[in-house]
Amino acid sequence: MIACTCDVCRSSDPRDKRTRTSVLVEAEGSKLLIDAGPDLRQQMLREGVTDLDAVLLTHEHMDHLAGLDDTRAFSFVHEPPRDIPIYASRATLEAVQRIYSYAFNASRYPGVPRFSLHPVGNEPFTISGVEIRPVEVMHLHMPVLGFRIGGLTYLTDAKTIAPAEKQKMLGSKVLVVNALRKKEHISHFNLEEALALIEELAPDRAYLTHISHLMGAHATVRLPANVALAYDGLKVEL
Ligand SMILES: [Zn+2]
Ligand SMILES: [Zn+2]
Repeated sequence: MIACTCDVCRSSDPRDKRTRTSVLVEAEGSKLLIDAGPDLRQQMLREGVTDLDAVLLTHEHMDHLAGLDDTRAFSFVHEPPRDIPIYASRATLEAVQRIYSYAFNASRYPGVPRFSLHPVGNEPFTISGVEIRPVEVMHLHMPVLGFRIGGLTYLTDAKTIAPAEKQKMLGSKVLVVNALRKKEHISHFNLEEALALIEELAPDRAYLTHISHLMGAHATVRLPANVALAYDGLKVEL
């Protein structure tokens, strides 16, 4: 957290260096990025990512899409440059058009990002042969899309989930779910709420993400055996 001098923010444990929440999913030879926060550039450089097939956005908050401009690097590694397909709800895509209006001008400045927009509802869809099943969760009163891809379910910014949406996540091998901190929060699961969902859905393994410094240092958080805090650079195989 900028300007914070707490023990977590000054920790030397690399697992306490928490950039904004995002995940790169590799499936059937495709690289699909879920969310493109303000730390996207640093994350892509750190992981040495050289290609990107599509971006899926969960919702329109800036900590999930402020890095979209930097995806242009993945357009211009191709000749001719390729559009980056963005899959999200209509509301989220409207925000993308508003925030990145310069990328949608009739006469585009050379080098601006190139996006193609793909609205999705709450029904399954496919990206280059990979089936994606959306799961709608509520972030206070904003709908947010989670995504189930094979045995992986990725959820962020959830506070409440309707029973029918929970059904879609049953049988997940790996569940990634947001847990902001120990104390309650108006629009995010806290640790207790995230653990209750994990117990209910009973995935083989679960990882907590979207963790703030208020959760405490990585090494100090006690969790059930099948649950771990995610950290930057974590790789999970399914
Ligand atoms: Zn949010
Ligand atoms: Zn967020």
